[in-house]
Amino acid sequence: MAGTHLSPDIVRSRLERVRALAAEEGLDAVLVSPGPDLRYLIGYDAVPLERLTLLIVPAAGETQMVVPFLEEPAAAASPAGGAGIPLVTWGETDDPYAAVARALGSVASVALDNHMWAEKVLRLRDAMPQAEQRLAGALVDRLRMVKDAAEIDALTTAAAAIDRVHAAVPSLLRAGRTEREVGADIADRILAEGHVRVDFVIVASGPNGASPHHEVSDRVLQEGDAVVVDIGGTMPDGYRSDCTRTYAIGDPGEEFTAAYATLQAAQQLSVQHVRPGVTCASVDAVGRDHLEAAGLGDLFIHRTGHGIGLETHEAPYIVQGNELPLVEGMAFSVEPGFYRAGVHGARIEDIVVVGAEGPIVLNRQPHDLVVVP
Ligand code: ZN
Ligand code: ZN
Repeated sequence: MAGTHLSPDIVRSRLERVRALAAEEGLDAVLVSPGPDLRYLIGYDAVPLERLTLLIVPAAGETQMVVPFLEEPAAAASPAGGAGIPLVTWGETDDPYAAVARALGSVASVALDNHMWAEKVLRLRDAMPQAEQRLAGALVDRLRMVKDAAEIDALTTAAAAIDRVHAAVPSLLRAGRTEREVGADIADRILAEGHVRVDFVIVASGPNGASPHHEVSDRVLQEGDAVVVDIGGTMPDGYRSDCTRTYAIGDPGEEFTAAYATLQAAQQLSVQHVRPGVTCASVDAVGRDHLEAAGLGDLFIHRTGHGIGLETHEAPYIVQGNELPLVEGMAFSVEPGFYRAGVHGARIEDIVVVGAEGPIVLNRQPHDLVVVP
């Protein structure tokens, strides 16, 4: 239940911006239930429960938060309390949805955070049948996409922590061990290096490397395997790490080694392209073009990257068709790969921040294929 350490000033300024965007989009209110948007806006890392906790940000009028009586101490102790957001508590026999409707009056349109449980969406609809419901995701993303200095520090700290785990990976990879055994050791290290939660551990060896979202299996590592290791966790402040390196146990063969060199160059081309004003799609395109020119385009079967912050996958998405221009402070992964079904795969992933002059690469582990004996 640790809160993000947001100052009251930051909470107030984020809420003010939500209010302004809501007004701009003709919304009467933005309603936010426990999840990453709530944590971002007011620093309250509330556990999503069946009992309704709901931040109400009206376009005009006072922000308030409906909280179950039992959760009031936690809400009051969070930065929301420090920022003076009034708490409307409800008891076990009260109807919190009616309390929301009373607080809002006769509104015509409300935006709901994208992670809200369907149960709550429908009960809000029943309590306010006149109010058109829309998604708040795009609105809140406009804030969350562009990180402030403290958030960039948080992502830098997270990246350094996962880099330390990658530095230890060669000592864990040996022919004869299973992916699962290696994955368990990596998970322990993710926690030992300062994360509070292991979000995912991918140890994809040999043919398993051809599936980008393979996790771990009982496959035994073999001499000549390429091993894709994609790992990430959540730090105490809620910010996430996500980094991929590809390793080889002994010689992975000429075809793989040549393709890996092309991938390494493609990843660098995408990273070096990052600067304010270029589109998300163009960051994808420069790396993809390089892989295509080498005949590997068909093997690069996913987008180049995703934003990262309080969620591992968030806006902006670095994908074909996304013409959103990059803005200083955006943070996202650049993670091209190639995947040869039934044979092998590779991926290189760094978290990159858009700096005023160009890319700021947060992950510092070398990109060269690490061959473990
Ligand atoms: Zn990853
Ligand atoms: Zn990623």
